Amino acid sequence: MTHEQPKPLPSSAGTAYTIRAGRLIDPETGTARTNQLISVKDGRIVEIGATLTPLEGAEMIDLSNLSVLPGLVDAHDHLAITYKKFPESNVFYYTYIQDSTAIRAIQAVSNGMQLLSAGFTVERDCGNAGLYADTALRVAIEQGWIPGPTIINSGIIIGGTGGQFNPTPEMAKEHNITYPEYLDADTPDEIIKAVRQNVLFGAKFIKIMVDSKPYPYTVDDMRLFVKEAANAGGLKVAGHVETEEGARRAIEAGIWSIEHDIALIEHENAHTDELHKLMAEKGIWRVGTETPLTEYGVSFYGGVAQAEFDSRVKGLKNAYENGVKMAFSTDADYYVPDMTRGQVVINFLKSWKAAGIPAKEILKIMTINGYKVSDIYDKRGLIKAGFPADIIAVKGNPLEDIDALRTVVFVMKDGLVFKRDGVMVPEKFLHGGPVNGWSIR
Ligand SMILES: [Zn+2]
Repeated sequence: MTHEQPKPLPSSAGTAYTIRAGRLIDPETGTARTNQLISVKDGRIVEIGATLTPLEGAEMIDLSNLSVLPGLVDAHDHLAITYKKFPESNVFYYTYIQDSTAIRAIQAVSNGMQLLSAGFTVERDCGNAGLYADTALRVAIEQGWIPGPTIINSGIIIGGTGGQFNPTPEMAKEHNITYPEYLDADTPDEIIKAVRQNVLFGAKFIKIMVDSKPYPYTVDDMRLFVKEAANAGGLKVAGHVETEEGARRAIEAGIWSIEHDIALIEHENAHTDELHKLMAEKGIWRVGTETPLTEYGVSFYGGVAQAEFDSRVKGLKNAYENGVKMAFSTDADYYVPDMTRGQVVINFLKSWKAAGIPAKEILKIMTINGYKVSDIYDKRGLIKAGFPADIIAVKGNPLEDIDALRTVVFVMKDGLVFKRDGVMVPEKFLHGGPVNGWSIR
């Protein structure tokens, strides 16, 4: 039996590094080993150990004063939309009217680099990307034009008529305004067609609006989504859920993940504990997008921020206590002046800390759980021989102080150095053509 190594991507081929890690963290076990070496060749991890066989011509990267760990995952964001206070008062319907798919694709490139610089090597992009700017971003990264996180994208969000919009009849019926921000699918035939359209145009999972309209999807509708997505190469279905009834139906239909905690926060008369127990039993992911309490958050959501935040934190705590599978996720698709997208995203640590979840667990949720909810755990993420070399380094020890993740000073992606000594160095990622192959779609 032969064990064939995957062929190196042309963008990383011929490169070799030896990384000296002061502290090498394994988020799966919540442990660390000191003074470890990692050898990286042709974009992949070759060997890890206190001593190792030196690779010919390998460049030494000295991270002996740092904690070295696998890359982080934001399991819910939208890189190809940026709504703003001015001029649209953070109403993304107006952003959609103003910003073309083309400008949104370029925003996505910038947002992707800002996230990568903050240590996020995987981004699960949940739609709201115009006419497939999410696919364009993923393809541009995979073909080798630009640096960016590994993108797991949903294509266009599928929902009942109107998607998440409340358009006028004129705009909806005469100008077909809902598309391409949302893909209407009201009947079984339309559900199958919508899934297939997204798969054809590069979606890696399917995102649906379960119950944002008074005509929510039924259990049978969602079973059909799950079946059709599974038929298309085993894709998973993520459901945007706003109501307890929607959550109940999604759980019964065996959906992969519930996006947002709107139906899963603690307040009077809520059935959060019961729903969390059902999710834990069925192994359904909670991708809660728990917005932290911040100065800029208050301006987005009005004066109820403190009470809303407290309920959200209680919901998060309840999910943790019930052993629900959880992912770090943000939905941070807005502009906060003086902050990068990466800084806005990492600030969601506030919510996890407020729930009293230990640093080790938060780190596991931000890495291991992120790879799992993105359905790439067997291919990418871990610092493990044979895996793509996605490696970050921070000052301090995130196993003890999770805020150490706010200072990412080194990032390697696919075996190439993207950030070094706290400065982005993207040159090796930029190519004048599709170096990894034009046929990547
Ligand atoms: Zn979202």
